This record gives sequence, C-alpha cells and structure tokens, in this order.
Amino acid sequence: MSTTDVVAPATTDELVAALARATPMTRLLAGGTDLVNDIRRPGRQTDLLIDLSHMPALSYVRHDGDMLRVGAMTTFTELQADPLVHEHAFCLERAASQVGSAQIRNVATIGGNVANASPCADGATALVALSAEVTTLDGSGHRATRPLRDVLLGSGRTALTDGEAIVEFAFAALGNEHRSAFAKIGWRTAVSVARLSMALVVRFDPVAEVLSEVRVGLGAVGETAFRDAVLEGLLEGRPADEESARILAEGCADAVRRSIPGRYSLPYKERAAVGLAYDAWNALRICPPCEPAWG
Ligand SMILES: Cc1cc2nc3c(=O)[nH]c(=O)nc-3n(C[C@H](O)[C@H](O)[C@H](O)COP(=O)(O)OP(=O)(O)OC[C@H]3O[C@@H](n4cnc5c(N)ncnc54)[C@H](O)[C@@H]3O)c2cc1C
Repeated sequence: MSTTDVVAPATTDELVAALARATPMTRLLAGGTDLVNDIRRPGRQTDLLIDLSHMPALSYVRHDGDMLRVGAMTTFTELQADPLVHEHAFCLERAASQVGSAQIRNVATIGGNVANASPCADGATALVALSAEVTTLDGSGHRATRPLRDVLLGSGRTALTDGEAIVEFAFAALGNEHRSAFAKIGWRTAVSVARLSMALVVRFDPVAEVLSEVRVGLGAVGETAFRDAVLEGLLEGRPADEESARILAEGCADAVRRSIPGRYSLPYKERAAVGLAYDAWNALRICPPCEPAWG
C-alpha cells in the first residue's frame, strides 16, 4: 500500500519548499470539504498533502487603494462577516452566506472553492461577476496574476499547474454607486449546492438613472462559472425598470438554453432561470420589486 506524506507549512518559505516537491499526485489541503471526499475515491491516491491550514498569512480581507484583496484561505464564515466585503463586494458576502451549512462555511475556503472548479461553486460565481484576478505561488517562489476566467477551464479543470497554489484574489472594490447581488437555486434551501446561481454587479447613477458597468455571472449553467457579455451589453445604458428586469430574465433563460441544449433538466432550468434573475434583480434594490409575467 502506498503512503501519503503530509507537510504543514507555516511560512511562505516553507510553502514554497513544499510546492517544490509537488508531483501530479500531490494535493493541497485547505478546509478539506471537497478534497477529503475526493481522495477517498479509487485512483485518487496522493503522494503528498500540503496542508495550508497553518498559514494564517493566507487568511485576510484587505482594502488596498481601489482594490479589495482576499487571501485564499479566508473561510466563507469570515467572508460573510467581513465589513469590507459587505461594503465593497456584497454579492460575495451573499454567496458566502449561502454555501452549505455553518459547519461547512467555518472551514471551507474561497481558494478551495475556486481550485475545485465545480460548475456550482458559489464563491467562483461571485468572483467572476467581480472580475477577480487570481494570484498564485509556485515551488520556485514565482508569483503570477491572471484573470479568474483564465484559471477556470471547465468542470473540475483549472489552469493551475502541479505545485501552484492560489494565494490571493483581488478585484476593484465596489463604490457607493455600485450595487451587487447573488441569488441561487438549490435542491433544497439548506446544505445544498446550486442548481443555478447568478451574481449581478451594476453601477447605477442616481442622477442619470441608467445602468452601467453591468456584470452578470452565471453558475451551474455550463462547465464553469462565466460572465454573459451579450446580456451585459443589452442592459448597459438602460434605465432601472421592469423592462430591464425582463431583459435580464430572458437573457438568463437564453444562456441556459445555449449552455445545456437538449439536457433533461432544460425545461426546469429555463423557468428557474427567470425566477432566479428576478430574485437577483430585486435584491439590487434600485427600483420597486418586479415579478415575472409567467406565460
Ligand atoms: C455538505 C456540503 C455542502 C456544500 N455546499 C456547497 C455550497 O452550497 N456551495 C458551494 O460553492 N460549495 C459547497 N460545497 C463544496 C465545498 O464546501 C466548497 O467548494 C469549498 O469552498 C471548498 O473549499 P475547501 O477549503 O474545503 O477546499 P478543499 O476541499 O481543501 O480543496 C478543494 C480542492 O482545491 C484544492 N485547493 C485548495 N486550496 C487551494 C489553493 N489555495 N490553491 C490551489 N488549490 C487549492 C485542493 O487541492 C482540492 O483539489 C459543499 C460541500 C459539502 C461537503
């Protein structure tokens, strides 16, 4: 029987040294909520586990100029309670608050959520809408920063190489004129991964009363969380009114039709997408609540 070596770096130098030993069978351990199940499966044996839980330096939320910086080991409980996240990235706070149960949120990290690359990852959907960048560290001590959309390649697939750890996410902090929201539909209301999720970010100028900088992130629709540029273009420059809510809902249903043509869940997801879009729209609180006109 093969054995697994475990290292628990406590400093950046120790982490770099551990990453330098990585092989294709090496795994990073953060909260373990995805990994522990995964490595129990046949053929998922590891040679080296790099336990990141002794790296407090990777757990933080910081304002840095116009940017918000979030350490990879920040848990969803921490994100949910963080005043900076509340003020400058509300959709991430909302997403964090809807991950699993309190027990899961206490240990599950934003880094593990992205690196696991599930299409249903709530944190990834919010970070996509926030246009986040990802910074990684490798076994030679090299740091690289790239857009999150370049890291998420598909279901369970990322651009991370063996021995490359996510250390930080960064995005422009949302200001007073921005609004953001997150909505999700699961199998049931608690401890449930998303069957569909949406993160919305808009800038709403109260004088001109139009939407700008519209960003629509969708999760659990395709292989990975993604932004819908076509839908964003349709909403850009529009007033915050019922027609904009309808366009969002129709665009969301369209994205579902494009992403899973012919799949058994399509009729359910198409209709759910409309309800989800109205939930997210109403959570922005930029106009009186709207309801879908179910046909
Ligand atoms: C009961 C239950 C309910 C859940 N509900 C939800 C839910 O509602 N929404 C949701 O989004 N998820 C949910 N999940 C999934 C899981 O909790 C999240 O994906 C979580 O964020 C994973 O983070 P972790 O810290 O536990 O990662 P781990 O399990 O430790 O790691 C996950 C993967 O990421 C890699 N990894 C971890 N950290 C890094 C890093 N810094 N750099 C590079 N690679 C890294 C690991 O090697 C592994 O491959 C649920 C899980 C369970 C068991």
